[in-house]
Amino acid sequence: MEKKKVICSFCGTPQDSSRLIFRSPMMNNVFICDNCISSLNNMLAEYGISDNHADAPTKDEPMNIGKDIKSPADIKARLDDYVIGQESAKRYLSVAVFNHYQRINQNNDDVEIDKSNIILVGRTGTGKTLLARTIAKTMQVPFTIVDATVLTEAGYVGEDVESILTRLLQEVDYDVKKAERGIVFIDEIDKIARKSDNPSITRDVSGEGVQQALLKLLEGTIVNVPPQGGRKHPDQKYIQVNTRNILFICAGAFDGIEQRIASRLNTRSVGYTAGLKRDKLDRDNMLQYIAPQDLKAYGLIPEIVGRLPILTYLEPLDREALLNILTEPKNALVKQYEKLFAMYGCAISFTKEALEFVVDKSIEFKLGARGLRAIMETIMMDLMYTTPGSGTKAFVVDRDYAESHLGADAATRLSAE
Ligand code: ADP
Repeated sequence: MEKKKVICSFCGTPQDSSRLIFRSPMMNNVFICDNCISSLNNMLAEYGISDNHADAPTKDEPMNIGKDIKSPADIKARLDDYVIGQESAKRYLSVAVFNHYQRINQNNDDVEIDKSNIILVGRTGTGKTLLARTIAKTMQVPFTIVDATVLTEAGYVGEDVESILTRLLQEVDYDVKKAERGIVFIDEIDKIARKSDNPSITRDVSGEGVQQALLKLLEGTIVNVPPQGGRKHPDQKYIQVNTRNILFICAGAFDGIEQRIASRLNTRSVGYTAGLKRDKLDRDNMLQYIAPQDLKAYGLIPEIVGRLPILTYLEPLDREALLNILTEPKNALVKQYEKLFAMYGCAISFTKEALEFVVDKSIEFKLGARGLRAIMETIMMDLMYTTPGSGTKAFVVDRDYAESHLGADAATRLSAE
């Protein structure tokens, strides 16, 4: 009797032309080929069903994230080691992050504690990224930074919102379980605000559509993540990631939001701001009065604002704060140079006037905290070139040295960076 040819019962491909073919364990003459298995897997992924979660921690298996952290104050103390000032943001963040990981660690579903994603509002270079990064280090969870401006609505040039999670997966070598308890920092969230004065002849590619797509991620859902990021396409295999325990920290400068806050406070005579007397308002730092409605007025859709329930602000850094940034944090620039020069066998030190000069230049070039490193590097370049191997045992960088080594063209070069 002629042997019956084995063909895939789904697509009809004969055994010889497909790489692998499997027989049904129940029916002898039913087969499936590897191509069909893989397409079915993709279809399941589209429906949000996958077996990636088979090894997810069970209810009884606590995750023990940040197990040395006993209280929000422990987190704040760690933030104090690295971040100067920003008391309010540190307290809000510490409480939110502490509660978030308590909830995950306990895995207790009796009372559902909602996820508390965070939004930080503050000028650029005031420490938003630094805070988020330090939090992730403290809790020892994976961390990734994404820029909201590269995201576009599905179907447009740019990256799909899901690609945010690709970066997190890449951080942990595609260990889904680890990624699912990480922290994602979404920078420049203000750039995807809906532009109300945008005439709607074209669709708002980088605005509302992206916000809509972000919604489900923030809330907690199973997302099909393209492993290599970028655009999703039909033949691609996806990795499924549950965002339920991923903490999202969004940040933005929200340029001009102070005026909106001011006008809200000035026109409102009832409600919880009624107690704030107009003449008592600290006009130099209106951000401290920020409320969710200001974010909505700025162009974030109400649903997004609702999913970022912890709203806090960062203060502008004054001269004293910038001086402290140079010397105080555990990895302060001055400490870094001291360590580096110690390796060259040279004890380096800086006079107060030299440091004040650096700070003043950073303020003058409008570079804030970000400029400190660039200015310091320019000043130190010569010394870093000449000291190693020179036998110099000690060197004091004073104001004259700093001034002469910053150079006249530094202003143009550094401000352009
Ligand atoms: P943002 O995210 O608010 O734009 P960053 O956190 O990226 O700003 O800050 C840029 C750099 O400036 C940081 O890497 C850090 O060196 C320094 N910096 C900014 N703010 C602070 C701060 N409050 N304390 C210590 N360093 C700071």
